[in-house]
Amino acid sequence: MSKVQAEAQSHLDAIASIDPEICNLIRQEEQRQADVLRLIPSENYASRAVMQATGTVLTNKYSEGYPYKRYYEGQQYIDQIEQIAIERAKALFGMPHANVQPYSGSPANQAVYLALLKPGAKVMGMALPSGGHLTHGAKVSFSGKIYTPVPYTVSPDSHLLDYGEIRQIALSEKPEIIFCGHSAYPRILDFAKFAEIANEAGAVLVADIAHFSGLVVSGAHPSPKGYAQIITTTTHKTLRGPRGGMILCEEQHAAALDKAVFPGLQGGPHNHTTAAIAVALKEAAAPEFRMYGHQIVKNAAALAEGLLHHGFSLITGGTENHLILIDITSKGLGGREAAKSLAAAGIVANCNAIPFDTRKPFDPSGIRIGTPAITSRGMKEAEMKKLADWMAEVVAHAHDDKVLTRIAGEVRDLCEQFPAPGIGI
Ligand SMILES: *Cc1c(COP(=O)(O)O)cnc(C)c1O
Repeated sequence: MSKVQAEAQSHLDAIASIDPEICNLIRQEEQRQADVLRLIPSENYASRAVMQATGTVLTNKYSEGYPYKRYYEGQQYIDQIEQIAIERAKALFGMPHANVQPYSGSPANQAVYLALLKPGAKVMGMALPSGGHLTHGAKVSFSGKIYTPVPYTVSPDSHLLDYGEIRQIALSEKPEIIFCGHSAYPRILDFAKFAEIANEAGAVLVADIAHFSGLVVSGAHPSPKGYAQIITTTTHKTLRGPRGGMILCEEQHAAALDKAVFPGLQGGPHNHTTAAIAVALKEAAAPEFRMYGHQIVKNAAALAEGLLHHGFSLITGGTENHLILIDITSKGLGGREAAKSLAAAGIVANCNAIPFDTRKPFDPSGIRIGTPAITSRGMKEAEMKKLADWMAEVVAHAHDDKVLTRIAGEVRDLCEQFPAPGIGI
């Protein structure tokens, strides 16, 4: 039994006796997360403290309402926990109001729609294939079904946001809301430009910083504070908290957004998650987290440099944030094929559409990778170079099981030197 398995055994002892089948699968997932390089840019390792908070008696309590304004009794501790989470969120993002109850990032965005718009209203957001999120007006999502999407894309040539074009669309379409934020755009956003456009068009600017909120609080990406009236985020991506969502806003939208979350969309808040968010926000306010955020960006830059050295084709030519989007077709592979080969070598990424992709969404042209999780393990520029070398070797021998298995072993050896938070440390 490995060290990781022995550790898992002790903290999963109750599950082991009640439900060995599920326990065993959790253990195997722990081992997997320990043994591979996790490059999916929306994923991370929550700390042991964050995970402990999620596994507490707080899950037993109903507390519909908001701190000190609840419908049920017995809230003396829950109220304090949620109030602490709110105060920490406000302080960290420098915003006057915070709601920490959304069950995740998508429900946080749903609350924005419900609070501000009538069905059919025009909502401007980045198109999915350009790197936007489903909830920004994609046809298959509630946002594109109930509201009228006004998509903007990146430039067909540079794959960068074209603020002149975004302005033109905003002024001619007059959307009520403009979303900025993304899941697959490797560049920094110009919130001042977005705010100028929103003002001119008479729209509310919503910054959805789900992917990079951890970079914002560490100063590694500009903050939308002062530009966006509303900020939404997940708590589990670069922020390294439990799975959850948050809304931060200026006072004028506070009451409507609170009402949209509860009772508009949700019932009882997940108090165990709220406590874990509070813990994560405390961690994110510590000086080490600032270094963490900056290291994510440094690692992404080093990885991009290594990949360019090996002739990979990177969308926008590189990265300024935590993620890299590769057009893998220039290496003679499809996105899914490449992702499968990388996974067989212990390098876990996801295939992803690139802007104006000519291939199908289920087997697109791109590979999306990011450095948040491997940076949480303490990896630095030297490891990024090694990773780029492995990735080049994988794509050159994508169907050679011997090569892939050998690299998977080397990856495991490296991973052993960098214990994952919440698992090894
Ligand atoms: C991940 C993400 C969300 C949604 O978060 P879930 O927790 O998966 O619902 C929303 N917006 C953006 C930009 C995201 O990247």
